[in-house]
Amino acid sequence: MRETGLERISPETGEVEMMNPEDLLCRVRVVLSHPSHPGNIGAAARAMKVMGLSHLVLVNPQRFPDEEATARATGAADLLERAAVCSTLDEALAGTIHAVALTARRRDLGPPALWPREAAAGLLDQAAAGEVALVFGNETVGLSNEEVQRCQAAVSIPTDPDFSSLNLGSAVQVLCYEARLAAYAGQRLPSPRGATPNVSRPATHEEVEGFYGHLEEVMIATRFLDPAKPKRLLPKLRRLFGKARLEIDEVNILRGILAATQAPPRD
Ligand code: SAH
Repeated sequence: MRETGLERISPETGEVEMMNPEDLLCRVRVVLSHPSHPGNIGAAARAMKVMGLSHLVLVNPQRFPDEEATARATGAADLLERAAVCSTLDEALAGTIHAVALTARRRDLGPPALWPREAAAGLLDQAAAGEVALVFGNETVGLSNEEVQRCQAAVSIPTDPDFSSLNLGSAVQVLCYEARLAAYAGQRLPSPRGATPNVSRPATHEEVEGFYGHLEEVMIATRFLDPAKPKRLLPKLRRLFGKARLEIDEVNILRGILAATQAPPRD
């Protein structure tokens, strides 16, 4: 085991161990949502491979596979061959425990906005516990608000305010570079998480989405939420729980409370 890298808790012994930075980087998937230009897919693959990332996921690419993607990937065509193609962001994020949305625009009520460096450090910390994702949007319209709200952090790459949109491949390069820096950030002291008994594993994307669905159902049934006038309640709740980095035990407790409101009274 290497001296640098982030710590992880051994599932067998519960001890804090240092993780190899390259193993951590393998847990970072890059998700491109609705990319229009195959050249950008190739450029993203190359940007990933030079930084040691290998897991590319495409949500509804307009053209893929495509010769232009392969040409722009140069030595990274293997990433394109192994790329997963799915039809929704939920599918792309299945199994992840933390996702960061890349957006040039400020969003109302999205997850907390971070600097790339800060977000990459958080992402690599989370990678010690499971799969994580960087999510990029379409070249013209970017990510939708719904997509951004499915992530726990949002990042804008600082730019000239009058010209803030990077080419998709370039945006992927900046974040993959930051991920690499974070992975090699040096030996860190074991986190308090390692010393805390009884913590459960982080909840996966689908477990957290299952909780939101359940919460919405109960809020509608109790008339707390009027589906005809939802206002901004759901995005606000997503933001709240997104900051909490829910563990599976916590999701189960919250869902248990919701289920109790749905159960018939005991007597
Ligand atoms: N016109 C679009 C930008 C699309 S660029 C918009 O306003 O959102 C394609 C993708 O690259 C974006 O969806 C985002 O994921 C990423 N990107 C480009 N510039 C960025 C920046 N300054 N900060 C964060 N992400 C950026």
